[in-house]
Amino acid sequence: MDKKKDLRLGRRAFVKVLGTAAAALPFMGFFKNVRAAEKISPDDPMAQSLKYVEDASKADASIRGGDDRFCHNCMQYTGDPKAEYGPCNIFGGKLVSSKGWCMSWVKKP
Ligand code: SF4
Repeated sequence: MDKKKDLRLGRRAFVKVLGTAAAALPFMGFFKNVRAAEKISPDDPMAQSLKYVEDASKADASIRGGDDRFCHNCMQYTGDPKAEYGPCNIFGGKLVSSKGWCMSWVKKP
């Protein structure tokens, strides 16, 4: 008799764990998105190859091609232009400085 009770408790505990795991699934997606929205490091190999800088005024002027070129007015920038950082398509949605710049800059239409 006690064994049956133990089994029922075990099954209840299992169902509880399953329910908790199911409830956590949407939050796991949330945390995945938060992770995707990390800032790109200027030390990142791709950032270095594209000469990304967080402060466009520090970019090589001969490569930058104009002092009106910033991430916030680049076609690849999908964030709020007035925000400090926003996602960039080139860096897989990672955040770039709105005052930054890189060699992939293309004027936002
Ligand atoms: Fe900034 Fe555009 Fe380069 Fe992305 S592609 S880092 S938004 S200049």
